[in-house]
This record gives sequence, C-alpha cells and structure tokens, in this order.
Amino acid sequence: MEIKKNIVVMGAGYGGITAALRLAKLFRQHPEYQIHLIDRNPYHTLKTQLHEAAVRKTEISIPIKRIIRRQNIFFHLGEATRIDPIQHVVSMEDGTLPFDYIAIALGSEVNFYNIPGLQENCFPLQTLEDAQQIYKYISKLCTHAASEPVEERRRDMLRFVIGGGGLSGVEFAAELADHAAKCIRSSHVNPQEVEIIIVESGSRIVRRMDESFATHIHKNLLEKGVKIIPKSKIIGRTPDTATLSSGEVLKTKTLIWTGGIRIGELARESGLKIGQSGRIIVDKFLRAEDYPFIYAIGDNALAINPITGKPVPAAAQFALQQGRLVAHNIYADIFAGVRKPYHPKVLGEVVSLGRHLAVGWLALPFLKKITFVGFLGSLLKTAVQEKHVFLLRKESRNWITY
Ligand SMILES: Cc1cc2nc3c(=O)[nH]c(=O)nc-3n(C[C@H](O)[C@H](O)[C@H](O)COP(=O)(O)OP(=O)(O)OC[C@H]3O[C@@H](n4cnc5c(N)ncnc54)[C@H](O)[C@@H]3O)c2cc1C
Repeated sequence: MEIKKNIVVMGAGYGGITAALRLAKLFRQHPEYQIHLIDRNPYHTLKTQLHEAAVRKTEISIPIKRIIRRQNIFFHLGEATRIDPIQHVVSMEDGTLPFDYIAIALGSEVNFYNIPGLQENCFPLQTLEDAQQIYKYISKLCTHAASEPVEERRRDMLRFVIGGGGLSGVEFAAELADHAAKCIRSSHVNPQEVEIIIVESGSRIVRRMDESFATHIHKNLLEKGVKIIPKSKIIGRTPDTATLSSGEVLKTKTLIWTGGIRIGELARESGLKIGQSGRIIVDKFLRAEDYPFIYAIGDNALAINPITGKPVPAAAQFALQQGRLVAHNIYADIFAGVRKPYHPKVLGEVVSLGRHLAVGWLALPFLKKITFVGFLGSLLKTAVQEKHVFLLRKESRNWITY
C-alpha cells in the first residue's frame, strides 16, 4: 500500500482555510499528498464581523465541512496541543498526526495583561462564543433596565465600558451605540441614562490608522454619544467597577475587553523560535527558523515587511495573502519550483461605525487610493467582507448551501 505524505494546516481561520483550499487545488493531480486541516471548532469564523454579531443577529460563521466538501482535505475537529518538529508529528487531544509539511495558522488569544480581576469580570471579544455571549447579555439588558425603578441602579446597568480603543473596540462601541438608540425607543429608557465609554491607553483611538481618519472616527463616535477617555489604562476590575490608571473609578457592570491580543504558547512549547508578541520568527518565505518544513501564517507569523523592515500587523488581509503564499511555497518545495518571498499588499483600512457608516481607504490600481467617510464606506466594507466569502466559495468550487 502506498504511504501518503501529509501536509497539515493548523487552524481554519482566514489564513488556514485559504492555505488548505489552495493546497487542495495545487495538489489535485497528486493523490500521494494528503491535505489535513485541524481546528477546535467545526466552523470558520468571519472574525472581522465579531462586533456585529455581538450586538445584532447576523451570521458570521460557515461550517468547515461545507467549505471543503468537494476537496481533497481531511478535517480534524479538535484541539492541537503540540508540534514535534524532530519526529514530524502534531499532537491533538485525542491522537497524533504525522506530517511532512505543516503550516501554523492558529490566530491569537485575548491578552488580559494580568490586570487584577479583569479576566473574571469582563466580556472578551475574540471568538464567536464571546460574541454570542455578549449578544445574549445585551439583548436582555434593556428590558431589565426598563423595569428597574431605581435610577442609580438603572444607570449602572446601562453604563458600558470598553477597554481598548483599537479597531475592534471602536467598531463595537459604534454598533452598541446604534443598538442602544433602538433599545431606548422600544423600551422607553431615558437616553441620558445610557453611557458608552471607551478607555484607551494611548493618546488617541485607532492608533494604527492615520491621524486624519482617527479624527473622523473620534468625531463620529462623539456624535453617537460615545465618550472617549484617552491616556488611561484599566488597572483593576471588580464585578461593579473599573479602576483607571488616572485614579478614576468607573461604576459599571459591563466591561467589554478589546485591549490586547497575545499568541498562544503552542509554538514556544514546541521549541520554535519566538519573537515580538510571541509570534513565530519566519524567513522571507514564511518558514520558521531552523525548520524549513514548518511555515507560519497570519497572526502567528512575525512576517517582516521588506519595505519598512517592520512586522506586518495582525490583520485578516495579511493572513489571507500569506495563506495563498505558503500553499504556493510548499508546492514549490516539493516539486523543486521557485518559492516566492513575502511582500505584503496593503489593500486598505476600513473601520465600520455602525450599520450604515464607515471610514477608511481602499487601494486602487497605479498606487492610487480612494478615501471615504459615510454610507459609501459601509457599502465598501460590506463588499470587502463579501469578497472573502465569495473567494472561499470560488476556491472551494462552490459549496453546497442547505
Ligand atoms: C473583534 C475583531 C475585529 C477585527 N476586525 C478586523 C478588521 O476589520 N480587519 C482586519 O484586517 N482584521 C481584523 N481583525 C483581526 C483579524 O481577525 C485577525 O488578524 C485574523 O483573524 C488572523 O487570521 P489567522 O488565520 O491568523 O487566525 P484566525 O482567523 O484567528 O484563525 C485561527 C483559527 O485557529 C483555531 N485554533 C486556535 N488555536 C487552536 C488549537 N490549539 N487547536 C485547534 N484550533 C485552534 C481557531 O479556532 C481559529 O479557527 C479583527 C479581530 C477581532 C478579534
């Protein structure tokens, strides 16, 4: 019996699912190679839409079986726990899987920075379950608040603190403000009693974007009634309070934490070389140092932009590009082709501010850019999100819709 060679992709997020589908396509004529995909969840999460699912009913997951249905991909549902780079084996909760090549695309986790009381008393926003939990909680809150006779208690219930004014914190705050406005109308809650506060450690929100965009976003959030406290860190949390580095204590039952991410320990514990923020050190082809048969993708990879010399930020657009590149490079390794070095393409930056508003820019051909503020932006953001689903659909040769 012919022994198959295994190419394993760990993680079915943006980078992993893209790599697995591209590998399946490239190796279609090579049945001696078997593509394996591992994920702890049976679905692919559209993580860039988590803030929407946390506030309103919207579908942001796709069953993996549906995406890979017509593909030569074996899906393993379970927790990956370790890679043995010497024995070429990956361990999962319930067994092991030998590999010839492996691509690590396990994404990131929430970083609570050991802030006392934070992990136990906040809602993180990093996974589909997190978003569903917030959704359930918020859905009930308005009705409860409307029937609470004591004003002070009502105000405490309706004070939302968001820790972290990065992209996800800002997008969530705007969605919440829109939702609160609806809830005020339907439950006859006094609008003055609802407070949404973003606490940001830096001097301004969305620090990754140009200042002019940040200013627009700031202004729009203020118009929606969101308060912003810059230059302050949350340093302590109890079930009812959030203590800030300025000494101020905010009374709140609801703290949504979007203040930081970290990379899980799997790569470090497996003996791979780790750099800044726990990401795997990779060469220009995205191969882990010392292990040319191990690739890293997306948030896990400390990929360097050769133009700026700086690490590529953790973002979906880069995970998608790297997923495609890694599939190509593994194929090139095996069939003595030419490996491609990684050159990130920045396709744009879009921040949605509720359902009908977005601010940002998109790249156009010939190094041109289109910038937008407003409804057009929200249409473009939706188009970008739809494009990912469309490409997945195309790459998987049209999945079956039940
Ligand atoms: C709320 C929020 C909003 C965001 N908005 C944007 C945005 O607008 N634009 C943008 O570009 N980026 C955005 N990002 C960042 C973007 O989502 C990530 O950079 C991107 O998902 C990284 O892709 P990835 O493939 O590296 O990992 P992920 O997409 O996170 O996928 C990792 C996969 O690995 C699986 N996994 C993890 N550990 C294990 C394990 N031990 N065993 C088995 N399976 C495992 C997970 O279940 C998951 O499916 C946002 C992130 C968040 C949290």
